[in-house]
Amino acid sequence: MIQQIKHWAESNREAIEATYRQLHELAEVSWKETETTAYLCKQLEDIGVGYQTFADQTGVVAVWEGKSAGPTIGVRADIDALWQNVDGVWKANHSCGHDAHMTMVLDAVRCLKESGFQPKGRLKIIFQPAEETGKGALSLIDKGVIDDIDYLLGIHVRPIQELSFGTASAGIHHGAVAMIRGRITGMQAHAARPNLGINVVDSLSAVIAAVNAVKPDPTVPTSAKVTKVRAGGDNLNIIPDEAEFGIDLRAQTNEAMDDLVDKVTRAALAAGSANGANVEIEVTARLNAAVPNPAMEQMVGVAIKDVLGDDALIAPPVTPGGEDFHFYATRKTHIAATMVGLGTDLAPGLHHPQMKFNLASLASGVAILAAAVVKLQDQ
Ligand SMILES: [Zn+2]
Ligand SMILES: [Zn+2]
Repeated sequence: MIQQIKHWAESNREAIEATYRQLHELAEVSWKETETTAYLCKQLEDIGVGYQTFADQTGVVAVWEGKSAGPTIGVRADIDALWQNVDGVWKANHSCGHDAHMTMVLDAVRCLKESGFQPKGRLKIIFQPAEETGKGALSLIDKGVIDDIDYLLGIHVRPIQELSFGTASAGIHHGAVAMIRGRITGMQAHAARPNLGINVVDSLSAVIAAVNAVKPDPTVPTSAKVTKVRAGGDNLNIIPDEAEFGIDLRAQTNEAMDDLVDKVTRAALAAGSANGANVEIEVTARLNAAVPNPAMEQMVGVAIKDVLGDDALIAPPVTPGGEDFHFYATRKTHIAATMVGLGTDLAPGLHHPQMKFNLASLASGVAILAAAVVKLQDQ
């Protein structure tokens, strides 16, 4: 089967790149991926697998039923683009490679169909909206879409700093991300009589110092920093009574993030209110870190070696970036999941408006996903 898969990917290189170009042109932002969803449905019809869309949101889930008993294998691609300034024009732009991920998942299914593969259990193809908001995976978890999945595969193109063209990794060890927003309320007064007021700028200053002084576990990479402050009006002779701040937190493990959120929250509440101000805090975003699955990485690693050769398998990159794929296995702990990292010579970087990568890597990604599905099914 592996030879058939490699041959299919090699001889369909142009068609794969054409799919990519069409999806690239369709770029739509999170939760607005309607044309993209319609395109994916059309392609799934073409391939010949039944699918389900959602009345209340974008995205599509297809199911290829097998004829005998076996595991349910899920393959997931994210489908949203980013809204950014590209050469002076604000537009939806696929600078995170989600157009490449959709292409590789679609054509991996097409490749398996045309190579005579028959799932033993069930193959579930998941096109997930709104990854960039950190909410897309959670919406599909809430809908029960992944309840029956035993093995779950994802894929993400990697920047050249992590993996070069012709290589791949059987995991991506993303870190955890959290964002905190805070509001401070003080008391106005004439600036000549500051003793009669409560100055929220003093509170902000104390919050910044306290956040920078938090002591997380030094053996785990973490960072906590205030990334936004706002206070005061046009009259510089008034003690201001209202302020906002924002904090970005990163941690390489979910345990370290729990500890960091707890410590930063307590530090900001205590320091900001030391002068009598009132501080309110809300954790507005949270992404789980990857929990590496060595058995999955081993199996998918074999598929990578089969497709690209023994020297092409690289250890999973450790990256402080976040990815909502990791909610699937951390919220549904029966799922064995891993995300393939694909070397593409991508530069200057993910989310850069001029992001470019070697399109020849698409065919490799197709073959790796198809080969990994075959491997997982035979477990
Ligand atoms: Zn992104
Ligand atoms: Zn992405």
